[in-house]
Amino acid sequence: MQLRLRTKQLWTVLAWTILAVAATRPASTNSDASEIDISIKPGDDFYRYANGEWLRTNTIPEGRSSYDTRAMLAEKTSARVADLMETAASAPAAPGTIAQKVGDYYSSFLDQRSIEARGFSPLADEMARIAAIGDKTSLSAYLGSTLNSEVEGLTANADHVFGIWINQGFEDPEHNVPHLWQGGLGMPDRDDYLDPSPPMAALRDRYRAHIRAVFELIGEADSRNKAARILSLEIRIAQAFAPDSDSADVFKQNNPWKRADFESKAPGLDWGAYLQSAGLAEQRDFIVWQPSAVIGISALVGSESIEVWKDYLRFHLLEHYSSVLPKALAAEHFAFYGTIMSGAQQMSDRRKEAVAATNGALGQAVGQLYTQRYFPPEAKRRAQAMAKDLITAYHSHISHLTWMSPQTRLKALAKLDALEVKVGYPDVWMDYSPLEVARGDAFGNMRRAEAFNRSRNLARLKQPVDPIEWPINPQTPGAVIMFSPNAEFFAAAILEPPYFDSQGDAASNYGSSGAAMAHEITHSFDELGNIYDAQGRLENWWTAEDRAKYREAGEKLVEQFNRYCPFRDLCGNGKQVLSENIADLAGLSVAHDAYVLSLKGNPDVTIDGLNGEQRFFLAFAKRWRKLQTETALREQLKRDIHAPGEYRSDTVRNVDAWYDEYKATTGDKLYLKPEDRVRIW
Ligand SMILES: [Zn+2]
Repeated sequence: MQLRLRTKQLWTVLAWTILAVAATRPASTNSDASEIDISIKPGDDFYRYANGEWLRTNTIPEGRSSYDTRAMLAEKTSARVADLMETAASAPAAPGTIAQKVGDYYSSFLDQRSIEARGFSPLADEMARIAAIGDKTSLSAYLGSTLNSEVEGLTANADHVFGIWINQGFEDPEHNVPHLWQGGLGMPDRDDYLDPSPPMAALRDRYRAHIRAVFELIGEADSRNKAARILSLEIRIAQAFAPDSDSADVFKQNNPWKRADFESKAPGLDWGAYLQSAGLAEQRDFIVWQPSAVIGISALVGSESIEVWKDYLRFHLLEHYSSVLPKALAAEHFAFYGTIMSGAQQMSDRRKEAVAATNGALGQAVGQLYTQRYFPPEAKRRAQAMAKDLITAYHSHISHLTWMSPQTRLKALAKLDALEVKVGYPDVWMDYSPLEVARGDAFGNMRRAEAFNRSRNLARLKQPVDPIEWPINPQTPGAVIMFSPNAEFFAAAILEPPYFDSQGDAASNYGSSGAAMAHEITHSFDELGNIYDAQGRLENWWTAEDRAKYREAGEKLVEQFNRYCPFRDLCGNGKQVLSENIADLAGLSVAHDAYVLSLKGNPDVTIDGLNGEQRFFLAFAKRWRKLQTETALREQLKRDIHAPGEYRSDTVRNVDAWYDEYKATTGDKLYLKPEDRVRIW
């Protein structure tokens, strides 16, 4: 769920017998009614009725602007993952096991004495390779060797010349192809280099000073002039980058190139040498996301002095490995990227960095340890059963849509039938046996892990498309919607209380994580997902008429949201949050039907005086609890495509069943006349 926009473009629950469970129900952590504020009438303010006690007894942690269920879960998960790594590091396991690899990767990263003792010597062979570059061909070959496969395709910019991601073709779902995208900049955005405003010019001065400082740490001569030339090269690289507005339009990224196109369309770089050392010598088809960048950077290889390129490569080599080289380099890295670019005052704890580095290198190995301890097969089974009920309920919703034309509806149903919804963790784990992890060798471990991921990814070019290859680690509290291929993944770490309790109450599970899953499923069919068909082919399967009717159906929801005014001078902007509000509404009503399906005609039990339906809606409202500062709330209202939690919780007022359960009637603040209740999906 923490995905950047570009990602969204591409990417972007049990035979549960109520009676048996009622008899043996363990303490449930997800249907706790003690946080209800009984002084509030649910029909007036359902959010505060459900969360009043929680909102009163919690505070925003210092240094933050908000606190919510997601933040709580993130804290819990980080503590668990750190604990797993600490345990693996302190009780050495048999060589070659995943526990050994995780433990040794983590402890080596923390072993700063060894890192200091080695100094910059681990870079010696790589530095020698750069020093040996003598012409355009050897430069091209070196650049090709830095083309590291981006593991999950989530990296917007690569820190080397061109990023690569192996995924199915936009028009050919049967075959994996290399997707090449722009890369090679040290600062994250094109505007960091090109915006002429004084603050951005000052940022560039600081970046140049940073490059110089990095060079001085390794005793490089003439660091001042070298820094200036590197910055000037990067500015010209940035000029070739596609404007940010292009990255919102995936059709602009679908540029199939044949092997021969590189020489004819993008002269300069020695493509034969580049692709050979990139491991792509035999590749005939590519997709070039930003042709201007490939053309422009290739020309710079031809026109720019080899010596400047060599300085550039030395600098980026140091940057790339700064976390596993002497502390002085990491401190300089932080002084620029942490303090100047992000405003952070303190370097994050080395342990936190070690956790992140180990997750990055050995994601699924950590995921195995995590799920063994925290996500038993029973949890997966229940989450799968819930997902199945959601799909069944969605099938019925789509079959009855009035705004969608019959031919589009058939395509939507075909897409739903083909959709893979995966929960918890992969059915088949990644095999880490070829990867050697050695205790006390942080640099070597990082380098070997990168090489391992790279060759594993390149191998996929020769393998059939695997739509259920997990793009997110089980220990990441999040989900990924893939549009191409057509699959969604809900990690074990997000299937946790208060969202999901494998031992707990089903009604609450459906109301919370069920509604969340159905929300994400909606995106595969709405104006995000409608440009990808059932196989993930880039093709808009809606008609113009479908779109017009869909937008018309959304009008009432826009108006509903426009009327929420938390401040006298600031109200909601219904258009800005419409697409997410529609998904919330669809998620809630589909999850409700799925919950009813899960009962198989049996009555649900009563817990703490609440029946199943009541717990379902209560859990939905509890998911949105959030404390935030006024500044943060104002900022969210102005910019976020997601509505503030309170109003997301108020989605319930559009669902008839909520009125039955909470006795909301005319005169209650949330009451809507039946004809004013919105239903889109
Ligand atoms: Zn959404």
